[in-house]
Amino acid sequence: MNARTPKEHLTFLQEEMAELRFAINASVATPAQKALYESDEKTLLALTTGWECEHCGCTNERACPGGCSWVDVNLCSACD
Ligand SMILES: [Zn+2]
Ligand SMILES: [Zn+2]
Repeated sequence: MNARTPKEHLTFLQEEMAELRFAINASVATPAQKALYESDEKTLLALTTGWECEHCGCTNERACPGGCSWVDVNLCSACD
């Protein structure tokens, strides 16, 4: 577990959350899946707190206009 890099952890969380969001939006998610999604959201926030895009300077608190997400450590989707 600890051998996972921040980028691998980020990708893992985003993929898991995308699947869970699909189930939640389709109203077929189990309570356990909803709880896992909420826990993933917190883990993602904890993982990315302090990250700052090295191209545009956006952060969790200050995303790009129109919104963006993390694609790597200190790199947002708007600058990818
Ligand atoms: Zn950026
Ligand atoms: Zn951004």
